[in-house]
Amino acid sequence: MRQIIIIGSGPAGYTAAIYAARANLEPLVIASSVEAGGELMNTTEVENFPGFPDGIMGPDLMAKLQVQAEKFGAEVLYDDVVSLELDGEVKKVRLGSGETHEARSVIFATGSAYRKLGLAEEEHLSGHGLSWCATCDGFFFREKTIAVVGGGDSAIEEATFLTRFASKVYVIHRRDQLRASKIMQNRAFENDKIEFVWNSEVVSINGESAVTGVTLRDTVTGEERDLALDGLFVAIGNDPRTHLVHGQLDLTPAGTIAVDGRSSKTNLPGVFAAGDVIDPTYRQAVTAAGSGTVAALDAEHYLAALDQTEREALSLAN
Ligand code: NAP
Repeated sequence: MRQIIIIGSGPAGYTAAIYAARANLEPLVIASSVEAGGELMNTTEVENFPGFPDGIMGPDLMAKLQVQAEKFGAEVLYDDVVSLELDGEVKKVRLGSGETHEARSVIFATGSAYRKLGLAEEEHLSGHGLSWCATCDGFFFREKTIAVVGGGDSAIEEATFLTRFASKVYVIHRRDQLRASKIMQNRAFENDKIEFVWNSEVVSINGESAVTGVTLRDTVTGEERDLALDGLFVAIGNDPRTHLVHGQLDLTPAGTIAVDGRSSKTNLPGVFAAGDVIDPTYRQAVTAAGSGTVAALDAEHYLAALDQTEREALSLAN
C-alpha cells in the first residue's frame, strides 16, 4: 500500500509530489492519459511564474516540475482515475487500465475543465473550426478571420497569440469592460489585428460541417446579427473537475471542493485537495503550486499522526 496517491499533474499535483517525495513518502502521481501536465500544457509563454524572468513555455515548466518530482522518488503513471473509494483508512483508486491502487492518503488535484457556451452546435463543430485551445489549434487558422469569446486573461492571451496566425481576431465579450489584467488588455488594445465586439453574446454557432460564423445578440439592445468567421475559440473560464468525488467530498457553493480554512483538509480524514479544484478565486499556476505544498504538508502530518496512533495501539496491546 502507498503512503500517498496524488491525482492530477498540474502545478498543484507536481508540487505536492515534490514535497511528498522529499519527505520519503514515495508518492504515486496519476497524471491522466491525455491531459498530463494540466492546463499549462495548452499555454504558450508563462511570464508570471517566479524564477523565470525571461518567461518559460507552459509545457517546459510542467516538464521541469515532473523531472523535479521524479528526481526525489515520485512515480508518475499516465492513466485516468475512473472511480475512488475515499472513506475508511485505506483509500482505493481505480484506473482506466483496470488496476486498483491503495494508499493511506490521497491528494486530489484534478484542476478544472474548459467551460462551454452551452450551445447544441458545440458538440458537432468541436474540432471543425471550434476550439478551446489556441496553442493547439491556432496553426490551422493562417490568414483566416476568427473570434475568441470571453473577456478574461485566457481570452485576451489567446486572442493575442492567435494574431500570429490569423489575419483578423475578434474578441466577443458580453460586457463593455474586460476582466483581464491591465497588461494583457493594453497589449490587445495595441494590436491592429484585434477588434473588440462589446456587449455581445453568441446565440448560435453557424455552419453545417465547419464553422462559418456566429449569430450574436447585443446584451444591451437585444438585437441579433451574424458575423462571418472561419473559426471560433471559446475562452470563458473553467469549472473545477470534481465529478469523481461527488457524493464523497463536500463541495462549496462555487462548485469547488470544500477544505477546512487555509488547509487542504476535505471532510474525509486522509483526503486532501489542492489547486484549481479548491480555488474559485486566484487560479494561478503559482497559487496552485503553493496549494500543492500545503496539501503535501497536511498529508505528511496526517500520516505521522496515524503512525503515532498505530505505535501507541501496538504498545498498549503488548
Ligand atoms: P475568467 O477570469 O473567469 O474569465 C472568464 C471570462 O469569460 C469573463 O470575461 C466572463 O465574462 C466570460 N464568460 C464567462 N461565462 C461566459 C458565458 N457563458 N458566455 C460568455 N462569456 C462568459 O476565466 P479565465 O480568463 O479563464 O481566467 C481564469 C483564471 O486564470 C484567472 O484568475 C486568470 O487571471 C488566470 N489566468 C492567468 C493568465 C496569466 O496570468 N497569464 C492567463 C490565463 C488565465 P464576465 O467578465 O462578464 O464575467
